[in-house]
Amino acid sequence: MDLIIYLNGRFVSEKEAVISVFDHGLLYGDGVFEGIRAYHNRVFRLREHLQRLYESAKSIMLEIPLSPEKMEGVVLETLRRNHLRDAYIRLVVTRGRGDLGLDPRKCPEPTVFCITSSIQLYPEELYAKGLEVVTVPTPRNYNEAVNPRIKSLNYLNNIMAKIEANLAGTMEAIMLNPQGYVAEATGDNIFMIKDEVLITPPKYANILDGITRNTVMELARRRGIEVREELFTRHDLYIADQVFLTGTAAELIPVIKIDGRIIGSGKPERIFFELLEDFRELTRTDGPLIFTEEDSGEKAGEADVK
Ligand code: PMP
Repeated sequence: MDLIIYLNGRFVSEKEAVISVFDHGLLYGDGVFEGIRAYHNRVFRLREHLQRLYESAKSIMLEIPLSPEKMEGVVLETLRRNHLRDAYIRLVVTRGRGDLGLDPRKCPEPTVFCITSSIQLYPEELYAKGLEVVTVPTPRNYNEAVNPRIKSLNYLNNIMAKIEANLAGTMEAIMLNPQGYVAEATGDNIFMIKDEVLITPPKYANILDGITRNTVMELARRRGIEVREELFTRHDLYIADQVFLTGTAAELIPVIKIDGRIIGSGKPERIFFELLEDFRELTRTDGPLIFTEEDSGEKAGEADVK
């Protein structure tokens, strides 16, 4: 079925959702985005995602032409028009159409679009068995270059790392920061558990300030688990009891081998499964509703069969 896409103030069919070849999002990766997820008729941590989108835009001096409240409405309405209650949402704001030069002043109007689609789930066996990963030579960007806290359309840094992981025969890479400390994976944050303490690199360690990351820290503290944000090295990962990645699409995914070293027992263990369960439980109640009781039963019914 054709998707309905929000594009610059209109809801259009996928075929009509086209942007100019002069759009600086395409020509230069000049723009910002969010990957968001809806579960059980609610958009998980929507406010947090919108805040990060507006902060990314502020940092690159891109003025989003809609208020965060309007943008929240755009996300919810796009989901409704596609009859989706469980979905992956891609919200993108580019510098807009300009000329062939770099100068953003030549781009008078940002391009805004929102795509909602049914979620492609990772195979459930990955959660039970865990991933094998490698550390790669390409470091995460300098904070002084394109700060990794900005969720920009410039993902080549991470794509290079992904290529290196693929060449090594693995699906995912661990990227170090320019100082050689562990930063994150190509599209996920990283955690380790050592002696029952949960440790993740701090925000300044050249990472995206992940929303799943923050949720997991919150859930761990609720369980009484000690949580630390501190720098650590590859060696710390090799000798950790457990390692896992977090992200909107992946949720929490265990890592059982890094650079050929088996991590802990080589199987995901209790704390990991408890946190994954807490996370999935939270997705039932967190975030604004997509369809409310006032929406016709017919609409909600249609959504169920999708
Ligand atoms: N790091 C990077 C580089 C990412 O692109 C993402 C998002 N896919 C994450 C971490 C995880 O962030 P979040 O939990 O907000 O999805």
